[in-house]
Amino acid sequence: MSEKQRGEVYLDNAATAKKHPNAINAEAHFYREINANPLRGLYKKSVQAKTGVDEARKAVLELVKADKSYTVIFSRGATEALNMVANGLIKDTDGFGVITRGAKIVVDIESHHSNILPWKQRYKEIIIAKNMDARELFAADVVSLTGVSNVTGKCFLKRIETVRRTCPKAILGVDGAQMVGHVPFNITRLGVDFMAFSGHKFGAPMGIGGLIIKKELAEKLRPLNYGGGAVDAVSEDGEPIFAEIPERLEAGTMPVGAIFGLKSAVKVAKERIEDLGAIDRFDETTTGRFIREAVDDLRKIKGVKVLAANNLIITFQVKGVHPHDVAQVLAEDNVMVRAGWLCAEPFLRYKGWGPVIRASFMEDSDSFYIKALVDAVSKVRAKMGLEDNKKRKNVRRNSNRS
Ligand code: PMP
Repeated sequence: MSEKQRGEVYLDNAATAKKHPNAINAEAHFYREINANPLRGLYKKSVQAKTGVDEARKAVLELVKADKSYTVIFSRGATEALNMVANGLIKDTDGFGVITRGAKIVVDIESHHSNILPWKQRYKEIIIAKNMDARELFAADVVSLTGVSNVTGKCFLKRIETVRRTCPKAILGVDGAQMVGHVPFNITRLGVDFMAFSGHKFGAPMGIGGLIIKKELAEKLRPLNYGGGAVDAVSEDGEPIFAEIPERLEAGTMPVGAIFGLKSAVKVAKERIEDLGAIDRFDETTTGRFIREAVDDLRKIKGVKVLAANNLIITFQVKGVHPHDVAQVLAEDNVMVRAGWLCAEPFLRYKGWGPVIRASFMEDSDSFYIKALVDAVSKVRAKMGLEDNKKRKNVRRNSNRS
């Protein structure tokens, strides 16, 4: 039965996107037909597994238009990728790393917690930049920026370009969790040194994402995990001989089924992005127009304040009702949205918004979703007794008068 037949309205795609059927089939195919470890394949299935992993890596690089100077290190997702780079860059006696713990790290105020904490917990100085001005960026060693905000849906490609020009020497990174697989861009032209992404945010299975990174930088990264598959030789007392990148940074058995799913989701995303041509054109697509209509309709509902609406995201509040209560009331109508701090507490505090409600769509969301959202939101205040209370007050006032 389809989601629509079940009457379900899933609008939390920014938390995890609906999975593309091709991606689910590709993952199932791997486990049904192959199910071998891609390490040192001495038999056909192992070679097939390894080939699939190599093809997925290539597909990701093509998706973001990376030239030969880049590679992909697979990880569980954007969070692990950002931890990998934040941890791996610190210089130590093991010979890895390029900066000290005292390095100046700059992230933007729009950052998700996953682009703040990996740095904040490991370095002495982290600036959460509000203006991206010369003072904030001066002598930055690393600048790690949001690609697309998970709160506002805003895309920051222009900011990335500007920072690259302002800080030509800094290591420039992007948290691409909401950007990769959705937005057309050319990582080579942007001159970005690393970009984290999560497959599950654009139709691939959960548990697979990665770090798209300049090979030169990846060579210097300390592995986040040590173990099998990442070394060429281990002796009882000598230093291990590490494998080449990317394998050196991918110790242990990878979620290969998810990687097959990722390859398939990347193919779908690539076709969609090529059709889209440029991010500015999203509003002109059918879904883009539906979303703009939803924003107009939401704005007409008494007590609803739309705080941000860009691309696939609408963020709003309902006067007098806590966002968690709004989400629960919407859930009664099977409308599923995210509510709270959205893992971006510094940003929501900076904006003075506090907790919010976020509806997030897919590129193919149609009027069914828009209508269901608007209908459910229009009932919230009444369901919470706010409209009724007012009526009751009027009744009381009238009765006093009589
Ligand atoms: N950055 C942003 C902007 C996100 O939206 C998310 C997911 N909410 C992450 C990072 C973390 O991604 P993951 O949970 O897949 O590691």
